[in-house]
Amino acid sequence: MSSQSFPKKDIFGKEIPVRVKISAKSLRDMFHPCTLGFISKVCHAHCCETSLTEQHTLIAIAPFEQPRIESLGGVVKNGILQTPNKRCTFKNDQNLCSIHEKGQPLGCSISPFTFTKNGNTLIVRNRYRRLRCWRAKGAKPAYKAHRRSLEILFGAEKTEEIAQHLDKGGGDLVVEMDREIFARLRGNDESRFAALKVVE
Ligand code: SF4
Ligand code: SF4
Repeated sequence: MSSQSFPKKDIFGKEIPVRVKISAKSLRDMFHPCTLGFISKVCHAHCCETSLTEQHTLIAIAPFEQPRIESLGGVVKNGILQTPNKRCTFKNDQNLCSIHEKGQPLGCSISPFTFTKNGNTLIVRNRYRRLRCWRAKGAKPAYKAHRRSLEILFGAEKTEEIAQHLDKGGGDLVVEMDREIFARLRGNDESRFAALKVVE
């Protein structure tokens, strides 16, 4: 179901959640969690680096969070965080996120998940399969390794239901999510696609 065909408010003017599909196959793909030990010894948080010619890594900043990101020192242009030296300016010398406690951009906090370009299906972003955490020793299904991201998307209760469904071997499922978060993520995608067109 496209977001355009879905009524935005009920008869009482209350926002109606968006219904999205979750790809069981994609969320069962295996990733090592972002532990401090793994970051310092193995992956060095390469997910926070940019290589427009190789991986098309772009850090989208939604309009609602742009003032906050700029107040922390980030430079945002056309919805994209500018990353001189192909490295996020918030990535510190220990390869950690220096704004983790102050609040990462929404796109970072829901990583590695994204929605398919032409539908409302939640999957793991392809570029994460080029990182050292993909199928690394100690890897877990993405819905376990990145449970916190799912909780930001769906809330703790619904995430528990999703996890239980996948634990039992269930297939794709349809769940409701907050319309505003969905719209913000769609906006991030548009900024990224526009930036890629400029680069290509
Ligand atoms: S997503 Fe992968 S590469 Fe990025 S910090 Fe986590 S474990 Fe490391
Ligand atoms: S803001 Fe933090 S999590 Fe996001 S890309 Fe930069 S260093 Fe990584």
